[in-house]
Amino acid sequence: MRDLPKTLIFLGPQGSGKGTQAKLLVEKFGYTTYGTGDILRAISQEDSELGRKVKETIDAGHLVDPDLISEVVKEKLSKLDPDKLVIIDGYPRSMKQLRLMKEIMPEMGREGYLVLYFDISEGETLKRLGLRAEKEGRADDAEGAIRKRLEHFRSETLPMVEQMERDGKVIRINGMPSVEEIHSEVLKKLSLSISSEASRTR
Ligand code: AMP
Repeated sequence: MRDLPKTLIFLGPQGSGKGTQAKLLVEKFGYTTYGTGDILRAISQEDSELGRKVKETIDAGHLVDPDLISEVVKEKLSKLDPDKLVIIDGYPRSMKQLRLMKEIMPEMGREGYLVLYFDISEGETLKRLGLRAEKEGRADDAEGAIRKRLEHFRSETLPMVEQMERDGKVIRINGMPSVEEIHSEVLKKLSLSISSEASRTR
């Protein structure tokens, strides 16, 4: 595929399979991917004041401070060649983070971006997270923390996604079918958006 979007943002409810889909694009096209959940979990293991604070926040199912996560993303991007393809998985998640992201991106040489939103129902989210809790034993997959994460998703992330839709940035992907089917929908919709962008700028 020619002219792939340089900066992709992957969003969706917990358990929507976006991490798996990001990996497939990494293998196929050489994207670099940053999962903000993974980065924050690594920070939470550090034996420091910050590490302990992040761990508490994650384990309780809350969102970490928007300035902190924006700094973390900025630092990662600052080390990356601005021409390199990148997928940011799981950021931004609130209106405040979106505002900060809109400031950071141009500073990092990344004006344009596209959002892939992986859509699954709340019932499916609960089912998938319950299974993951059994398999991986993540503290934040415990029932109370899951409920909190869903609340934040509904009250903070969804209104932000609506804003991104008004900005004309969002491609919706059905997250319910198999990994392979979702992957082909991603490829199809990405190439459609590339060709419509090309015809707009022609
Ligand atoms: P995830 O694995 O993507 O569900 O992320 C795990 C946890 O990391 C979340 O429940 C939040 O506590 C934190 N987290 C990840 N990304 C963000 C973000 N963009 N803003 C705030 N908190 C985040």
